[in-house]
Amino acid sequence: MGRELWHFIDGERVAGTSGRAGDVFNPATGEVSKSVPLANTDEVKKVITAAAVALPAWSTTPPAKRAQVMFNFRSLILKHLDELAELVSSEHGKTLEDAKGSISRGLEVVEFVCGVPQLLKGHYSESVAGDVDSYALRQPVGVCAGITPFNFPAMVPMWMFPVAIACGNTFILKPSEKDPSCALRLAELLSEAGLPDGCFNVINGDKEAVDALLSDPTVAAVSFVGSTAIGRYIYETGCRNGKRVQALCGAKNHMVIMPDADMDQAVDAVMGAAYGSAGERCMAVSVAVTVGEETGDEFIKRVGPRVQNLKIGPYTDPLAEMGPVITRESKERIERYIEEGVTSGAELIVDGRGLQLQGYEDGFFVGGTLFDGVTSGMSIYCDEIFGPVLSTVRAASYADAKQLVLDHEYGNGAAIFTRDGDTARDFTQSVNIGMVGVNVPIPVPVAYHSFGGWKASLFGDHSIHGMEGVRFYTRLKTVTARWPSGIKEGAVFNFHSGSDTGH
Ligand code: NAD
Repeated sequence: MGRELWHFIDGERVAGTSGRAGDVFNPATGEVSKSVPLANTDEVKKVITAAAVALPAWSTTPPAKRAQVMFNFRSLILKHLDELAELVSSEHGKTLEDAKGSISRGLEVVEFVCGVPQLLKGHYSESVAGDVDSYALRQPVGVCAGITPFNFPAMVPMWMFPVAIACGNTFILKPSEKDPSCALRLAELLSEAGLPDGCFNVINGDKEAVDALLSDPTVAAVSFVGSTAIGRYIYETGCRNGKRVQALCGAKNHMVIMPDADMDQAVDAVMGAAYGSAGERCMAVSVAVTVGEETGDEFIKRVGPRVQNLKIGPYTDPLAEMGPVITRESKERIERYIEEGVTSGAELIVDGRGLQLQGYEDGFFVGGTLFDGVTSGMSIYCDEIFGPVLSTVRAASYADAKQLVLDHEYGNGAAIFTRDGDTARDFTQSVNIGMVGVNVPIPVPVAYHSFGGWKASLFGDHSIHGMEGVRFYTRLKTVTARWPSGIKEGAVFNFHSGSDTGH
């Protein structure tokens, strides 16, 4: 049995009391490395109380003081970057460089909210009627909760809590039970940065903990990132219970390669985008749509050998381009999809099944896999596989390629590789996708823009971080004020246009 983890409640480590725990694995060796407590409803109630008690003082702390905590937090993340990356990689399996890169993307959100006084500035209108002024301001929503997936154990929580906390809310994070250690360490760093106790808490758990958060009336807003089935449930349950909910979900991201694309650039791009982090990214490219027979032939000819020669290894191998997948179940699920692809008639160009690494025979490794001749009815095309599997679909024309993107259930990301501005413009204008790349395979928006998909990739009205994040974690209040001028109007019973009072 490995090391016991804890919850982080009201500024301190708290041992689990539910009697239930989950295993945390080192995916490269397949061994259990730690044990994570799984909270029950009583433990969740305690964490909600801690966040509610901390709320009044924190929400009225001046924004510039809240920003100061974020400045300190930024320095501490940079100081502990190696340690945080090690925590991510040892539980998730991704390479250390990739882990550091993802933490840096989270850090950019912290940097964005260092300017929170500016972000919270309201509007003021003088003299909306005689002696009447009007102003609008944004106030925190209250106790917020975040429920996050395994694939970005630092970055995805950091899409949420820095914005929520800087805006004056208190926050409860329920990280993935598969790799919770980095979130627990970030909580300690926030305390060290000067955040008062109870403002940021981590409760570990599974469905029981999530349901307790969703049903408690004290929780005002819920941010979720994870799979579509769970996201839909969280959105519907949270909304039914009167909460504000944003649920960012699954994906099947297409990369359209036009005949005029720079093929060297496209091939390099697809390698990182399809196989980086073993394909366990919601913005991974999992479908390559080649336009025209020659483009398809050339693409397969060049990509095939690259996939065959991918350097796969544990995160401790500095030469590894890709690590294992998260669990044995995940490996088996991915291998089942590969089998389904073969039986449904797709051409398996590179088969990643049965990969054995010397010294890591029990690790959850799946080799890079490439299919050609995939069609839109196949499960490998329709479903999110969340592994290192790329499906190539041959399209006869740009119009056919675009139609595939339009018709797919998911709408997170899509990219087009072309030298033609006209085609690129049509694509960016007309696809029903939240994040679009032009010669950029993974168009993840920077921290001061907002991240979010369309269709079954997002439920709710707000994308995450950037100004959308500020709007999600604040409520708009508009004040209309008259200071007595000594002029008496008498009672007004009818509503008038704004300029004509009625106030
Ligand atoms: P998941 O849906 O299994 O789990 C996400 C969270 O929900 C975890 O904290 C988990 O404990 C909790 N959960 C799981 N089952 C639950 C249940 N029955 N009831 C309540 N809560 C439950 O997702 P995952 O496997 O951890 O992550 C992979 C998924 O996340 C992929 O679908 C990926 O596309 C998606 N993802 C999306 C984005 C995005 O921004 N759109 C980003 C990252 C990951």
